[in-house]
Amino acid sequence: MFNPELGPSEENLDESKIDDGIDIIESSSVAEEEISAKLQDNGSSKEKADETAKKVIENNSYNAIIYPEGSIQREFNDRNRLLCLKEISLASSQELEILNKLNLDIESNFHKTISEIVGATNREPGDIKNEIDEMVAENKIENLNEAKELITSGIVVKGFEDSKDIPPMSADFIKDFLNNTFPKDFLKNNGISRILKSQDYYYNKNSFIETTSNRDTYLKEEMNLESVDNIEKLKHIYKIRAKVGGDNYKETIRLGNFEFDNPSTLDHIKTLEIESEEKQNVLYVLGTITHEIAHKYEKQINLEEYQKLIEKENKAVSEYVINHIKLYGSNKETIATEDFAETVRIYVTNPKYLKENYPSRFSFIESLSVARAGGALFQVFPDRFSSN
Ligand SMILES: [Zn+2]
Repeated sequence: MFNPELGPSEENLDESKIDDGIDIIESSSVAEEEISAKLQDNGSSKEKADETAKKVIENNSYNAIIYPEGSIQREFNDRNRLLCLKEISLASSQELEILNKLNLDIESNFHKTISEIVGATNREPGDIKNEIDEMVAENKIENLNEAKELITSGIVVKGFEDSKDIPPMSADFIKDFLNNTFPKDFLKNNGISRILKSQDYYYNKNSFIETTSNRDTYLKEEMNLESVDNIEKLKHIYKIRAKVGGDNYKETIRLGNFEFDNPSTLDHIKTLEIESEEKQNVLYVLGTITHEIAHKYEKQINLEEYQKLIEKENKAVSEYVINHIKLYGSNKETIATEDFAETVRIYVTNPKYLKENYPSRFSFIESLSVARAGGALFQVFPDRFSSN
């Protein structure tokens, strides 16, 4: 029996709903202490040193956040730290040399990227520079290549080419799917800049999403969750394969390891009667991306109205939603948003199945005009299935 009222009220999601970008590992006071200590070593009183440190840090936008290695944010911050030291005349000659090199590197990389983007878009260099500065400040991109990709194609797509657990797909294949399935600027307007495929396993522990690259760790956690003592007994019904937001960069959808999934068991894929297992997997992955995109859009729907549709049709739209009810103990709102995300997934993967089995949900999605019915199907079988 389908009852969305079941389950405790704690949040229990397949994605973190807080999309706050790079974690602040140290507070900014650490940066102030560092500069102040240098001034005090050089004879300043503590009071004077603290005051100067505060000012100089503000002037140069230096902070004590530990940005990911190799990121443009880290390069900027390293430079800003040296600018602080230079301003208070406490940079060593070696540090001044590093600062010069960093400045030249940053300048030439920006110059190169901007001229490439100008070549591709014919836009004003100044506008592009501003747009990139904003992207860096808001942690939407990790490096300038991503800035170029985002500005020229609307989305950064990485890691699908050489994926081991799902069929390899080119970034262009994913981009084609997105362009043909979602309205123009839809991803941008809904805060989605990057889609990344990782080989890590995601799992839910105490209502948080954990990540591990270790298969055994993952399987142990799955056994805990399903309360079984043997890998053989695992049903692998607890699936977290993607999330939006969370670690490091804002506006990112991350897809984890799909090793244990079997799309052929899912009703909306089974009924398509596709022989190729590989094509079923590709459809499933495009559907998973769609599910996460739907989560970024869900705040714009009338959730109460949608909940009434769920009650009216009186059944969960997919096994995944049933898991949220029975296994993860999700609350009513989470169940509704998961149901919505799954409904959009199915609309894009097998609209006929949705229309026949969940006509009210089908009409609801249709009326939103947020995606092309069968967009994933069309991407995988351009000749066999028409777009509607
Ligand atoms: Zn979800």
